[in-house]
Amino acid sequence: LIVTAPGWKPDKPLFAAAERAGVPVWGDVELAWRLRGPDAAPWLAVTGTNGKTTTVQMLASILKAAGLRTAAVGNIGVSLLDAVLGEERYDVLAVELSSYQLHWAPSLRAHSAAVLNLAPDHLDWHGSMEAYAADKGRIYEGNSVACVYNAADKATEDLVREADVEEGCRAIGFTLGTPGPSQLGVVEGILVDRAFVENRQKNAQELAEVADVNPPAPHNIANALAAAALARAYGVPAKAVRDGLRAFTPDAHRIAHVADVDGVAYVDDSKATNTHAAEASLAAYESIVWIAGGLAKGATFDELVTKSAPRLRGAVLIGADRALIREALARHAPEVPVVDLDRTDTGAMRAAVQEARRLAQAGDTVLLAPACASMDMFANYNKRGDAFADAVRELGSADG
Ligand code: ADP
Repeated sequence: LIVTAPGWKPDKPLFAAAERAGVPVWGDVELAWRLRGPDAAPWLAVTGTNGKTTTVQMLASILKAAGLRTAAVGNIGVSLLDAVLGEERYDVLAVELSSYQLHWAPSLRAHSAAVLNLAPDHLDWHGSMEAYAADKGRIYEGNSVACVYNAADKATEDLVREADVEEGCRAIGFTLGTPGPSQLGVVEGILVDRAFVENRQKNAQELAEVADVNPPAPHNIANALAAAALARAYGVPAKAVRDGLRAFTPDAHRIAHVADVDGVAYVDDSKATNTHAAEASLAAYESIVWIAGGLAKGATFDELVTKSAPRLRGAVLIGADRALIREALARHAPEVPVVDLDRTDTGAMRAAVQEARRLAQAGDTVLLAPACASMDMFANYNKRGDAFADAVRELGSADG
């Protein structure tokens, strides 16, 4: 048996040799799944290109509000092996799974699972979009109660349709619009459940208000609905959904409001490391000075720029692949003023924030949503966000 760290690419010669020799290859998730005891806690699992960590943390918060013993585990800091083998007893686990982990977890069978969204990412690892989607789709295999999909992202629904699930397992959609039967959605500022209620043709259950979601940006309301769907699939009462969402605070660098300076809001979404995340982030504000750039990981920026252009007051570009974004802006938004910062030293983020301040007007948002990885200039996205926040605080204190 080979147990591999999930990051190892499947095309390594070792794995090809293992296949030829009939030697199984497992990842850490598969190992944890197989080592669970007979009365082990069921898994509520979450994957998707973006929003996994946030959704799993919301889910854990909701489950705790229902009085259940639970933890957010998996691709989120606490390994599944520790959760499964440790002393602590759990009723149910909120499990974040990456596409890599799913690739190496052939026999995993969750109680219920959600794929939040599907956009090109990590294609260098998976080889193609089809292979990436297929690995994400493994999360639905063998689900016993609910397969939760995003009604606005047909690819996630297709994965449910293709999955082999247990008899009686239901497909449950989430939508930012009015929910149909077997969906959760939003009606007049209220998150409602039309899936886990008696007589869903006619009835709906109020779960929480949009204002209970922190921050109440559209993509994050979608995350909250997905978390609520998994919790409801597990039988959690409506009140716990509301209490759990209210108790939740997002991790650092995910749409974190840093400060207001001269009537301009400065927001750190350094975790927006791909174009799909940056698009969601840009959609949350009306008038934006956008700080972007870094390592593009093979991405193209035309769609992102085309969709976001009407909201852009200006853009400040940093990092190794900034020319790709500059060219996309020139093609699709030539009227947007762009500052191209040709420096990668430690002071570059300070310069970017100062340039953004020059472009911004009262009421605007200066948004760090790089759409790129950070490793060309920073150790990781945390350090990039910290540099942004430090630079913003310097602006504030310079004002006295
Ligand atoms: P992941 O664990 O999948 O990386 P996170 O919850 O850490 O996801 O969020 C990462 C970034 O993705 C956020 O900073 C935000 O920019 C973006 N994001 C979060 N939720 C969504 C969503 N549902 N759709 C699109 N983008 C999202």
